[in-house]
Amino acid sequence: MKKSIFVLSLFLALGCNAQKASKKTLPVSATPVDIETLIAQMTIEEKVGQMTQINLDVVCEGGIYKLVEPHHIEPAKLQEAIAKWHVGSVLNCGGHAYPLKQWHEIIGEIQRVASAQGRLKIPILYGIDAIHGANYMMGSTLFPQQLGQAATFNPELVKRGAQITAYETRAAGIPWNFSPVLDVGRNPNWSRFFETYGEDPLVCATMGRACVEGYQGQSTTPDATHVAACMKHFLGYSGARTGKDRTPAIISDIELRQIYMPSFQAAINEGAMSVMINSGEINGIPVHANPAILTQLLRNEMGFNGMAVTDWEDVMKLHQIHKVTANNKESVKAAVDAGIDMCMVPNDFEFARHLIELVKEGKITEARLNESVRRILIMKRDLGLFVNAMPPALKDFPDFGSVKHQQAARETAEESITLLKNDGVLPLSKTAKVLVCGPAANSLTLINGAWTRTWQGTDAKWENESRNSIYEAMLAINPNTSLVEGCTLDSLLDVKEAMEKAAASDVIVICLSELPSTEKPGDIEDLAMPAAQREFVKQLRASGKPLVLVLVENRPRIIHDIVPLCNAVTMAYQPGDLGSDALARILFGDVNPSGKLPFTYPAHEQSLLTYDHKFSETLDPKFGNTAYSPEWPFGFGMSYSTLSYSNIKLSSNELKGTGSITVSMDVTNRGKMDAKESVLLFTRDHVASITPSVRKLRKFEKKNIAAGATVNFTFEITAADLSFINKDLKSVTEAGAFDIIIGDQVSTLNYIP
Ligand code: BGC
Repeated sequence: MKKSIFVLSLFLALGCNAQKASKKTLPVSATPVDIETLIAQMTIEEKVGQMTQINLDVVCEGGIYKLVEPHHIEPAKLQEAIAKWHVGSVLNCGGHAYPLKQWHEIIGEIQRVASAQGRLKIPILYGIDAIHGANYMMGSTLFPQQLGQAATFNPELVKRGAQITAYETRAAGIPWNFSPVLDVGRNPNWSRFFETYGEDPLVCATMGRACVEGYQGQSTTPDATHVAACMKHFLGYSGARTGKDRTPAIISDIELRQIYMPSFQAAINEGAMSVMINSGEINGIPVHANPAILTQLLRNEMGFNGMAVTDWEDVMKLHQIHKVTANNKESVKAAVDAGIDMCMVPNDFEFARHLIELVKEGKITEARLNESVRRILIMKRDLGLFVNAMPPALKDFPDFGSVKHQQAARETAEESITLLKNDGVLPLSKTAKVLVCGPAANSLTLINGAWTRTWQGTDAKWENESRNSIYEAMLAINPNTSLVEGCTLDSLLDVKEAMEKAAASDVIVICLSELPSTEKPGDIEDLAMPAAQREFVKQLRASGKPLVLVLVENRPRIIHDIVPLCNAVTMAYQPGDLGSDALARILFGDVNPSGKLPFTYPAHEQSLLTYDHKFSETLDPKFGNTAYSPEWPFGFGMSYSTLSYSNIKLSSNELKGTGSITVSMDVTNRGKMDAKESVLLFTRDHVASITPSVRKLRKFEKKNIAAGATVNFTFEITAADLSFINKDLKSVTEAGAFDIIIGDQVSTLNYIP
């Protein structure tokens, strides 16, 4: 394929300070409740209660994490939580998903008791993790995980997915979603990599903003089919040095602002109603105890005035794990002083007990409580809970889990799946004898990932049997498809049987994978794809049949030794319940792939560079500049069509301080299938006062291009688009020479600075 890369020169005539993005004001009251009057009536205990969030297990029959099935509220426990402790919020399910009817019983009971036994009848704010769809509601629609959604490079799909998730969450009577994850995926070892929008701050900011808009809707306050978003985990959570979950991050102030803040700033500008705090530490200070981050940065500098909730048990962990406080009571003081509003305690009332004492001892003022209580009550008011906190009528949610919603999930998966290698074996013929094998060939668990009906998503008992596995989806299109597992996630099975079936097939589709996991349970010792799975590919190579590798993974597991053995490689991410159908349509050529990698796929464990690395990081041991030689670079993804870039023009090659220039180009689809193409525009600063990155993504846009058609893409560039964070922690653009870099997939693959 011909390589086309364009590097245009641009000169910025005048330096200038980058402009701040416009800010959407936070929702205003839609209902008559007067928050100040309410606060004036509240006791210290009632205020502290509002700041207390408990796990559903605390008020159910059975012990914490050991509930009696089927889960039920235990009236005496709920009464204690509400009448004695005045809790303001409940979260989670008791360990697994429920049908809507059960959710209605649970939420209905909680709200009834809050209204009957709470002195001031303040409704409960119920929160849940609806991470890739309403994953804790049985029968809901499951989308690709965030990483796959980012690979679409299509914020409209992210927004639509969030709208559907909000609708299906609200159908259960739950108005608050702990999503999106706005942590930037800089380290592929991290167990929550799949929960991010990838490694680039602009992609994270664009997708994050679209997601918040989808969750909260466009009116000033979320209506009855939308939810409050909770951007998380503020700040720097994904930056852990080793990639092990909740371990220390060392992040400079410049990097914090350049890489980790933009996604949160974009969500704040969109009016995100809440934020969850990073469980880890940055530069030796746990974020839950850091006023510089939770107050100065988040509130004073970034302008957030919504509600800040802690993460799970993290206040007590200031003492128990981080050792920055001498006991739990000191931890409560440190977190409240730092700026938290609500504590996800969540398994007892210890937070409330200590905070009441601290206020009575004069160590925390009641005025300080009022600040947090005000934010919590405003959030409840803006969600309409004072008007009606009860679960809705099911008839008002006819589209829950509907075919329309499933189709949306499938379309998102179709635009996410990324073709990484193809020697022409794909698309497959619909009459070919296809053997599908490997651990993900016939599993719904693996294609969905964590946060699927349970926290870790590993229990096959919760699979929705009406959905297709990869094998089933392929069989539905091509009746000559057969199945053999051949290997599990970590051991070879009967390779002889696989080899025999391979001999009788025309092509072999091998679906490799890793066990779904998140948080601590997802820590790994080795980024390589488990040896047994790579060995399986090596053995199948001996069959002489073309091999198509399909990757279904939490993060990019290293596969450098087997890529040359495969004729095609497809990254499916964790595409969700409808992902198999999407994949099958791509493999058989009903859909033209258009996903692009939202991260750098590493070739080697010791070279985990991101695409926006520094020039010094390009130097290899021979003093050449090939050190960034990943398996596939950020932004890479092929199509069945040849998409050629041409006619690229700059409106001017000089940009004046407050003006703008346009970059325009044509993309021609020279193939026989309609295609979609995301054009990625990067810039390079030739010289800057802070070492510049080799390149930075500044713009991207995706468009449909019919077979044979040519479509124009035009981007406007201002000085702010060329900005970076300088030594004074200001966003600036310095005068000088820049390159604008745009290239098709071939040039992206071969790009060397
Ligand atoms: C996770 C959060 C999640 C919370 C509630 C924590 O362990 O870090 O992302 O929202 O649990 O489930």
